[in-house]
Amino acid sequence: MSTILIENVHIAPVVGPEIPTGHIHVEGDRIVALGAGPAPAVPGAVRIDGTGCLATPGLVNTHHHLYQWASQGLAQDATLFEWLTALYQVWAAMDAEVVKGAAGAGLGYLALSGCTTSSDHHYIFPKGRGDLFAAEIEAAREVGLRFHPARGSMDRGRSQGGLPPDVVVERLDEILDATAEAVDTYHDPSFSSRLRIAVAPCSPFSVSADLMTEAAALARSKGVRLHTHLAETLDEEEHCLRQVGQRPVDYMEKLGWLGPDVWFAHAVHLSDGDIDVFAQTGTGSAHCPSSNGRLGAGIARVSEMLRRGANVGLGVDGSASAELTSLSGEMRQALLFQRARYGPTALTARQALEIATLGGARNLGRQEELGSLEVGKLADIALWRTGAFASAVADPVCALVFGTRQPPLARLLVGGETVVEDDELRTVAQDELGRAGGEAHRRLMRLAAEQGFTAGQEVGG
Ligand SMILES: [Zn+2]
Repeated sequence: MSTILIENVHIAPVVGPEIPTGHIHVEGDRIVALGAGPAPAVPGAVRIDGTGCLATPGLVNTHHHLYQWASQGLAQDATLFEWLTALYQVWAAMDAEVVKGAAGAGLGYLALSGCTTSSDHHYIFPKGRGDLFAAEIEAAREVGLRFHPARGSMDRGRSQGGLPPDVVVERLDEILDATAEAVDTYHDPSFSSRLRIAVAPCSPFSVSADLMTEAAALARSKGVRLHTHLAETLDEEEHCLRQVGQRPVDYMEKLGWLGPDVWFAHAVHLSDGDIDVFAQTGTGSAHCPSSNGRLGAGIARVSEMLRRGANVGLGVDGSASAELTSLSGEMRQALLFQRARYGPTALTARQALEIATLGGARNLGRQEELGSLEVGKLADIALWRTGAFASAVADPVCALVFGTRQPPLARLLVGGETVVEDDELRTVAQDELGRAGGEAHRRLMRLAAEQGFTAGQEVGG
């Protein structure tokens, strides 16, 4: 078993007091000790000098659509519904090769921003285009992140009153079979798991009530978690009121979609009562501020949710609704959004770090294993170089969260294994990964053109 000793480092463990100059002792994939002062002498240990560095838990991303790496920069000034309507026809053309290239680039980019665990929400499965779910799982294995892909789905196309064109939706029975198969094939419930599956119908405006209730029953029978988009825009609220006569959270309650095994993306438009229901039922949410800003969706009531005891994690959301968004940057974005709306005490740097780590781990049901630096937890650790330019800021957590530019990432460990060192991926060739992401974009646009989509027609929605 390998031993790593990180020394002379400022430790922000998220749970428990910060340690201004301390050490972290890792054996295999676990943290076995941490504390003030120098590290013990351990024969054969790898020693990492953390002088001028801040150690935090690895960041946890709880909402994403990795395939969207291949469709960035389109419909730049559209509302969510306009943007979706423009892009469904592009996404209908994707295949496993597009997903592999897009997911690799997206996950590599996340790792470079301090992310050690990411979820993904994949909900479009065009027929005859390869195994898209397997492709993103393979990409995560290569990059070396813990991965929580959610088998998404849509069964309510335009002919049924939904938003997506019928060509991108699946039949209910096909969805349930494929979702059960994904769980049976891939889900690893073990403590140090690097791969867990969630069940994730897409959104209230693209999914039937039957799919929501059947999906919940399936997930609960298999002991996996439930995820979907909720309360992202006021357009969605109007859609729900018109079609089912209820606001989104009330509709979820009716469908059995509240509880400690559920986390929602966005949750922007919540009433006080909705927030209390989230807190009472243990329902989590993934705050995606850049995406909400890009699409003009609104600002989630994060400070109020935390004040009332509802769990909040962070998400970068799909690459195409956030555009090259880093997970470390979402801490800053969350902090600034709350303060711009609610004043300078609305969210502290340390609260932003907590939602990016422990809040995310709770969303994924992994708070016993991840999300803080504690003895017995998995050694998922980000080491930020807060010396150099950032050294004029005496508080390293402030330097990490407030700065426009992320401090250099000296080291990123996933289960004690190095994924990033000195701002460069060490598990895969970084330049090749970036190039493959660009090729995925060109391939997708080519495939979409073959199906009649012409670039430019999406502009302005
Ligand atoms: Zn999303």
